[in-house]
Amino acid sequence: MFSEVVKSAMPDTIIYEISKDITSEEYEYIREAGSVIRRGGLVAFPTETVYGLGGDALNPAASGRIYSAKGRPSDNPLIAHIADISQLDMLAYEVPDVAMRLMKRFWPGPLTIILKKKKEVPYETTGGLDTVAVRMPDNPIALAFIREAGVPIAAPSANLSGKPSPTNAWHVRCDLYGRIDMILDGGPVNIGIESTIVDLTSELPVVLRPGYIDMNMLSEVAAGVEKDPAILGVPDKNIRPKAPGMKYRHYAPEGELTIVSGDPDRIPERINMLARRHDEADVGVITTDENRHRYDYGKVVCIGERRDELSVARSLYGALRTMDEYRIKYIYVEGFSDENLGDAIMNRLMKAAGYKIIYV
Ligand code: AMP
Ligand code: MG
Repeated sequence: MFSEVVKSAMPDTIIYEISKDITSEEYEYIREAGSVIRRGGLVAFPTETVYGLGGDALNPAASGRIYSAKGRPSDNPLIAHIADISQLDMLAYEVPDVAMRLMKRFWPGPLTIILKKKKEVPYETTGGLDTVAVRMPDNPIALAFIREAGVPIAAPSANLSGKPSPTNAWHVRCDLYGRIDMILDGGPVNIGIESTIVDLTSELPVVLRPGYIDMNMLSEVAAGVEKDPAILGVPDKNIRPKAPGMKYRHYAPEGELTIVSGDPDRIPERINMLARRHDEADVGVITTDENRHRYDYGKVVCIGERRDELSVARSLYGALRTMDEYRIKYIYVEGFSDENLGDAIMNRLMKAAGYKIIYV
């Protein structure tokens, strides 16, 4: 990819390519990344969801650097990433049974749980909250990196605040080059949207952010799972989301994004009509394999197959970034059903679109 060239041309962020089977030479890079963390530095790394921007979760200065590198509001807490359940001891106390069951079933994997924080976890990491978000990512590079660092790694997504989350190392480089110490380039991610977040600090588990692990999957292991009312539909000023991050406009491209949802067969007709109101150079359409042939106006980007929602999740943020590269002013995206992974896809799309949606 781009490691050799970049290392010599721009010395301030080191970029290492790492393959999934991690050769012994690559392992040395991971060790180096671990020592950057112990010195209080920042390393972006791949996970199965999106790339994370990591720092020592127990070092307030490191967390502070994460906020400034991203331009992130300081009340938006970070997720602590661990490589072994024993590391949970450094972070949380009163871990309920339901947490143990969820961890056993879904870790390593795209599930973040919220627990009561130990006092050793600085408020800089938790955005001032007495709770801490914890996850064990399902990516061999991430796990090796966390082990080598020897501490839990605080990591939000490795994008500039407000931009779509990075799904490959190139996206990270575009946003954070020169602002962080190192990028571990492990290729494109597998899932493409951020983890499901479940709060376990009250009586019943509450989903604060939908993700790959959906309500049905959670309900198989935990009784009475509910959704935070703040993430149902259009935000209400009177309801405050329990995940502070969910209140910010997020994942957003520069152009004005509109979702056209409903019968997938009728969506293209409406999008074509709306698109033709603008100059062709200003318009972008985000579609799926099934409907690709029905568009011939503007920049058309296909994000996968409707019947394979994972393919859609994986390409979604990249497509939003592509629209920015082409300086598209008006973007139309096809809507999806809100079942299973579609729920998480629609949650991100709604936020990216500022809740602008047309039903056909
Ligand atoms: P990111 O990793 O960029 O997706 O951001 C982390 C997300 O986790 C944000 O939406 C935060 O609001 C959420 N989060 C982190 N810690 C907590 C916590 N203790 N309580 C509730 N939400 C949290
Ligand atoms: Mg983020």
